[in-house]
Amino acid sequence: MEINAYVLGDHVEMKKKHPCGSFEWEIIRLGADIKIKCCGCGHIVMLQRAKFNKQIKKVVKEEK
Ligand SMILES: [Zn+2]
Repeated sequence: MEINAYVLGDHVEMKKKHPCGSFEWEIIRLGADIKIKCCGCGHIVMLQRAKFNKQIKKVVKEEK
């Protein structure tokens, strides 16, 4: 899987479930650090890109 195939605004699925029950996060900042917002409860976390790449499971593409 291409783990760098995400862009700002993409929804991603993480390996670990958030306490609120959601696996899905939205990328709200993309740089050396990556900020993601939980789609379930709106909680925001900042991760180093290397750590993020380890925790990401897949990119959820919303095709139209
Ligand atoms: Zn949450």
